[in-house]
Amino acid sequence: MTDPRPIGHPVYRDMPTTIFEHMSARARETGAINLGQGFPEGPGPADVLQAAARAMLHRSSQYPPMPGLLELRSAVADHYARHQQLDLAPQDILVTSGATEAIAASLLALVQPGDEVLMLAPLYDAYLPLVERAGGVATMVTLTPPDWRITRAALAAAITPCTRILLMNNPVNPTGIVMRDAELALLADICVAHDLIAICDEVWEETVYDGHHHRSLMAYPGMRDRTVKIGSAGKIFSVTGWKVGWMCAAPALATLLARAHQFLTFTTPPGLQWAVAEGLGWPNQWLADQRAAYQASRDRLSVGLARAGYAVQPSGATWFLSIDLPASGIAIDDVTFCERIIDEAGVAAIPISVFYPDRAVTHLVRLCFSKSDETLDRAIDRLAAFRATLT
Ligand code: GLN
Repeated sequence: MTDPRPIGHPVYRDMPTTIFEHMSARARETGAINLGQGFPEGPGPADVLQAAARAMLHRSSQYPPMPGLLELRSAVADHYARHQQLDLAPQDILVTSGATEAIAASLLALVQPGDEVLMLAPLYDAYLPLVERAGGVATMVTLTPPDWRITRAALAAAITPCTRILLMNNPVNPTGIVMRDAELALLADICVAHDLIAICDEVWEETVYDGHHHRSLMAYPGMRDRTVKIGSAGKIFSVTGWKVGWMCAAPALATLLARAHQFLTFTTPPGLQWAVAEGLGWPNQWLADQRAAYQASRDRLSVGLARAGYAVQPSGATWFLSIDLPASGIAIDDVTFCERIIDEAGVAAIPISVFYPDRAVTHLVRLCFSKSDETLDRAIDRLAAFRATLT
């Protein structure tokens, strides 16, 4: 007799719960300060919440159009024209239930069985299972600290005649790297030379610090019609639980993306869409103030950790910075460190090794700084006390 067929798709069968949920659940259980999963502290900015409340009370909560409210699609196009010099029409924009849905819809729509999808590690944990569940074959270029540099030789070595798609994230979670102009130009060059579609997860585009500005791969020569640009209102407006995102692409691609989206979530709560449309119309100063506040939080955590005896990697974007364990004189790996600090220090963090499918970097630990000064200071005190227990 043969064994009964196992239940469930192989991609999911032996998969653990995502590290972000795992660490947040551990923080809830233990009462630890949660610097693991990336989300801002508190309910969200009052004016953003008020915009949603007004929309809920005074507008419809019935199904909005499948591609998203025209008001929001127009607001996204205007936002990118103002901030990133992109020339997008409302028809090029599809509203999704968060960026994760946009990534899933893009892969489901564009990957054909056996297509190779090129990715850069460290990579966000959803990418690999989504690529594989969509029928793609993952190929990986592994980047390493301290500068995580992307080289033409490494890309060329990973590309084969079956490579069809580049799936990438910039600015980069978890490293806080903003890709350099030369690296983006190189990626664009490679996409054009090998006729690749680029799926660009740019959810951290508004959390770029030190006076730098985000540049989308879509803006590079030859990329306008071969790029899917993905954005997130949750990140832009500090309301991660809203799950409002979008994907932008030229009409031929956008039509395909809509086919996948219509049978994934179909639509996204209209009240939240109206609120985001309103917010995108606010003066640039709103985003500038928010960015300045996050930059100050980054500096507070970075300086505090340095005083507490930790070596911190520079972070130019996102809500994250990393501790370098060996450079801090700590001879334990990232997973062990994270398990220990949650119990012994009462602080939750994320080990960077989970962002690698193989050949993992195991000496860096990611901490989220989008928290109040008081929370950051308490976490620093706890980590300082823990550091003192290690010899
Ligand atoms: N993007 C968040 C992070 O990197 C996690 C989001 C999630 O848990 N799905 O922390």
